[in-house]
Amino acid sequence: NSQTTSQTLIDGNTLAAKSLAAYGITHMFGVVGIPVTSFANRAVAAGIRFIAFHNEQSAGYAASAYGYLTGRPGILLTVSGPGCVHGLAGLSNAMINTWPMVLISGSCDQSDVGRGDFQELNQIEAAKPFSKHVGKAKDIKEIPKCFFEALDSAVLGRPGGCYLDLPTDVLHQTISESEADSLIKSAVDVSEIEKGAKKMSIASLEVERAVDLLRNAERPLIVFGKGAAYARAENELKRLVESTGFPFLPTPMGKGLLPDTHELAASAARSLAIGKCDVALVVGARLNWLLHFGEQPKWSKDVKFILVDVSEEEIELRKPHLGLAGDAKKVLELVNKEIKENPFCLGKNHPWLEAITKKTKENVSRMEAQLAKDVVPFNFLTPMRIIRNAILEVGSPAPVLVSEGANTMDVGRAVLVQTEPRTRLDAGTWGTMGVGLGYCIAAAVAEPHRLVVAVEGDSGFGFSAMEVETLVRYQLPVVVIVFNNGGVYGGDRRNPEEIAGPFKDDPAPTSFVPGAAYHVLIEAFGGKGYLVGTPDELKSALSESFTARKPAVINVIIDPYAGSESGRMQHKN
Ligand code: ADP
Repeated sequence: NSQTTSQTLIDGNTLAAKSLAAYGITHMFGVVGIPVTSFANRAVAAGIRFIAFHNEQSAGYAASAYGYLTGRPGILLTVSGPGCVHGLAGLSNAMINTWPMVLISGSCDQSDVGRGDFQELNQIEAAKPFSKHVGKAKDIKEIPKCFFEALDSAVLGRPGGCYLDLPTDVLHQTISESEADSLIKSAVDVSEIEKGAKKMSIASLEVERAVDLLRNAERPLIVFGKGAAYARAENELKRLVESTGFPFLPTPMGKGLLPDTHELAASAARSLAIGKCDVALVVGARLNWLLHFGEQPKWSKDVKFILVDVSEEEIELRKPHLGLAGDAKKVLELVNKEIKENPFCLGKNHPWLEAITKKTKENVSRMEAQLAKDVVPFNFLTPMRIIRNAILEVGSPAPVLVSEGANTMDVGRAVLVQTEPRTRLDAGTWGTMGVGLGYCIAAAVAEPHRLVVAVEGDSGFGFSAMEVETLVRYQLPVVVIVFNNGGVYGGDRRNPEEIAGPFKDDPAPTSFVPGAAYHVLIEAFGGKGYLVGTPDELKSALSESFTARKPAVINVIIDPYAGSESGRMQHKN
């Protein structure tokens, strides 16, 4: 009867699991151990899918990408001390990419702090530099409130990483179930998400000024990034581009918001587009290194930037001609509405569009001529063309593409075609290598209707290669294509004078075991492995694995001296 239920005692583990479920969390990534194993089990019992990894770093990357793909906080669960430290990789990645994530970590007994307890660490201080919010439940009664604060903070305003600390003693405390339920209810009641705090007001005067600038631009350009993808602004962008006839340029992860094949896509004429535009509307993309800080010589001196960003600090930092602070989808709705009242359109014969189209055609045909050749042993281009065609053949829903590596990512960005929003995950703002397997797993659970295809270098793959076991364990539809050129950048590219000293006969710092059998790794767990070195072998492996939609690794042997050191970032190495 209800009397007995209300007096039933529950512990901190159960209350933590119930709090997550009450917030609507459906997935959690992590590695269990002391003191969080029961929490993970209770979370599963509460209806949350727990994806168990081998390493917190990879699980953390998964949680960060899950946040990006779903717009809900990605959750990483770690053990105390070293588990938390490994998890900081994912947390920092979420923070830098502005993706919502919460790292929940067990911590040592509060009464033993300072005495060298098992896995003791001041985790709050460790997490602070990588978090927009840190919290600690010091008593079981604080659990629901602490969870809701961390989860709200991850998604409100500019999304980011948050940290929540759960001491061992708090997980073991008990309270009555009825008190627990009322604590959860109060947490739900104060949740800012529930109150719709996400709404920001956008000044209509600013929207009018922005539209005036666009209307009078001679060489306009629309640039959009992963912030626009996160905001799910694809329909508004499509309407804007198609009503104005303005050319557009996606950032690497903005690719797919509008199809790469769109006639107004200026990606293949990027240097011309950014070098000559006079007004650039930049939506959900920072003017950081990826966009050359918005400065000369890549951009012209007089370009007027209109920045659309959810973060007012970001707009202040960049000092654009005009800033529109707010959610990209909402801002673009207002912009479209304003344009509709007094429409304008560039028209195909406009000299600016003609110049971009001409440049695009030239560059595309030059690239296609390179791609058309079957080069064996493989360079980067030949296998990339074959993969591009195989991905396009899958059609809709398009696969999620995960990409990392130096040359592999650079060449892939230019060659692989993105046709649907949020179908590209790559090294991102930080150029983080080692994200691949975590991102694959996140994409497979967040977008179960899509195939996931990773195209990555052998070095990127190696960071978390053991997670292929995780792919097999959960039977995820992920095909990992490893561009195996035997090392970081591939081969031994040292100058002769650099090969000296007592350890000169060691392998070069950039090289791995040549011809490593990465495909055998997944077979150890019952997955499917392919070793390919020719176009026909690759085509057949892709066709079989894409149809099977089962975990597979395709080990593609690449000429170790193809490509360049550091890809396109050689000047920094
Ligand atoms: P990219 O790597 O694609 O250039 P960035 O990560 O540099 O993109 O920039 C993304 C920007 O989008 C960040 O400055 C972030 O504040 C912003 N952003 C995040 N969510 C939204 C949103 N809902 N609406 C508008 N901007 C957003």
